[in-house]
Amino acid sequence: MTQQLTPQLTLALSKGRIFEETLPLLKAAGIEVTEDPETSRKLILPTNDPAVRVIIVRASDVPTYVQYGAADFGVAGKDVLLEHGGEGLYQPIDLNIAKCRLSVAVQDGFDYASAVRQGARLRVVTKYVKTAREHFAAKGVHVDLIKLYGSMELGPLVGLSDAIVDLVSTGGTLRANKLVEVEHIMEISSRLVVNQAALKLKRERLQPILEAFEKASQANA
Ligand code: ATP
Ligand code: MG
Repeated sequence: MTQQLTPQLTLALSKGRIFEETLPLLKAAGIEVTEDPETSRKLILPTNDPAVRVIIVRASDVPTYVQYGAADFGVAGKDVLLEHGGEGLYQPIDLNIAKCRLSVAVQDGFDYASAVRQGARLRVVTKYVKTAREHFAAKGVHVDLIKLYGSMELGPLVGLSDAIVDLVSTGGTLRANKLVEVEHIMEISSRLVVNQAALKLKRERLQPILEAFEKASQANA
């Protein structure tokens, strides 16, 4: 059996904006992904560095792969990390990519402020149940949270909810569905997450990559 001398590093990324916006950071670390996940059906992508591979997973699954060490490191949104809880993850760098905000929105014409003032119990649909619960609890707003996995904007339009908690960047989707932002919960960007054991055992290999990422991501700040 041949022995592998260089430790294999596995990076977990999700398709779409996180993959696209991580490419320049990888490039700064001398790593180039040699296949395009949008056209390839492969879930494990090689890079120009034989010791580094990229796995393509669902955005919300990135922390899980890294937590269990199936990936040594990964890139995940703050939204995803807050819902996951971050156990077993070292989060050294804000990469300043995939920037957006987490907001409360309601149908245009719904008087959110007076509903809250009157202590009404509001129904809210969201993918971010944990973060939303903490936000409304801190504000003393009474809510019934309903978990959805997508198309949150539909909730108020079909009478499922009074409000939504979702990510907003340009606001175009909200406008197209006659919704308005009424509360800004937090700014969101993507972070680098590293498996805690990998950080110790593969430090020599990981450290230069983390440094290159840190330096390159400052340009996005
Ligand atoms: P899936 O599409 O597989 O259900 P997802 O919708 O969470 O998952 P993306 O839409 O690719 O996946 O979002 C991945 C991450 O990018 C999010 O967790 C968030 O941090 C960030 N993000 C989401 N929407 C936006 C946006 N409109 N602008 C900028 N960043 C965003
Ligand atoms: Mg999506």
